[in-house]
Amino acid sequence: MTSLPLVFDAPKRGLPPKHFADMDEAGAVAAVADLGLPKFRANQLAKHYYARLTGDVAEMTDLPAGKREDVARSLFPTLMTPVRNIACDDGSTQKTLWRLHDGTLLESVLMRYTDRNTLCISSQAGCGMACPFCATGQGGLDRNLSTAEIVDQVRAAARSLRDGALGEPGRLSNVVFMGMGEPLANYKRVVDAVRKITSPSPAGFGISARSVTVSTVGLAPAIRRLADEGLSVTLAVSLHTPDDELRDTLVPVNNRWSVAEVLDAARYYADQTGRRVSIEYALIRDVNDHPWRADLLGQKLRRTLGSLAHVNLIPLNPTPGSKWDASPKPAQDEFVRRVREQGISCTVRDTRGQEIAAACGQLAAEEG
Ligand code: SAH
Repeated sequence: MTSLPLVFDAPKRGLPPKHFADMDEAGAVAAVADLGLPKFRANQLAKHYYARLTGDVAEMTDLPAGKREDVARSLFPTLMTPVRNIACDDGSTQKTLWRLHDGTLLESVLMRYTDRNTLCISSQAGCGMACPFCATGQGGLDRNLSTAEIVDQVRAAARSLRDGALGEPGRLSNVVFMGMGEPLANYKRVVDAVRKITSPSPAGFGISARSVTVSTVGLAPAIRRLADEGLSVTLAVSLHTPDDELRDTLVPVNNRWSVAEVLDAARYYADQTGRRVSIEYALIRDVNDHPWRADLLGQKLRRTLGSLAHVNLIPLNPTPGSKWDASPKPAQDEFVRRVREQGISCTVRDTRGQEIAAACGQLAAEEG
């Protein structure tokens, strides 16, 4: 099993130059004033970026021609360039590999369903949480992403959906922070990005907060802080087992915040926001799929969250070189049955992107 150290404080190096999507409205007004432009230009830029989904100043033809170069240089530095797009699941899943300004690699995955279009985004390059079953966790933390690097993944995906890159033109409806990284270890930038994702146009993309999911290993104090932000995003907690002994190895941060502390924080989140909390559980054959663990999970959730919990079982996506495998179907069915027996809602997540290493926990961006 891994003995990687946990990393909470990302190195300061590597963040990109400041971008329009890092700024709030007042900051954008100040920035355009610095360029000698009137205030209304800030709103015009917001419309281009958040409503028309362009970050390319050459397309902003209503800006004075003589100023476009300045605007591009100081407000729209290139944040990321696509390295490759890979599709699978008959074209309904698409993974994009991006190269950031400092050469760091990053992935996001767009999934098209009949009733929604979901983008899975990264909040950090790499991850410092060292979960042994997760590919990203094996590579360690490279750096935090800036607010704009998070927001721009959303803009790019919303734009390709609008332009019909995945079949019929569509609208981005859901965003999940389930790509690379631990969102709550990059707290301020993630919260800032969530505000830009959910604010009504043109201050943001206008995606409903309840359609945005922030997934965490369980940084209990940060969960409580998020509960007090006044955002109604869905919280997902990656629990993976109800007992501390196993969780100490499956999710090493459990050594810092135990199952009980994480579930208490989740309850606080549910109370503050009125939202159901999603409990993520990757089922691993003979590791955490035992009937007694299903019973214990159901009991602990009944006592803490009750009807405010929803268990989301994820069949493990084995990562290269791992000895672990997904649970057999009968074990999975029995697990679901036992959790439900405790009165807790429980479903199995469909797995997308397996053939292209875009499934949960496989985003490692090892390719160049
Ligand atoms: N750091 C955050 C978000 C990124 S991971 C978190 O841990 O919640 C998103 C989800 O994918 C988490 O629930 C994570 O535990 C799960 N996951 C990681 N590796 C996986 C794998 N190999 N198979 C199935 N799920 C996995």
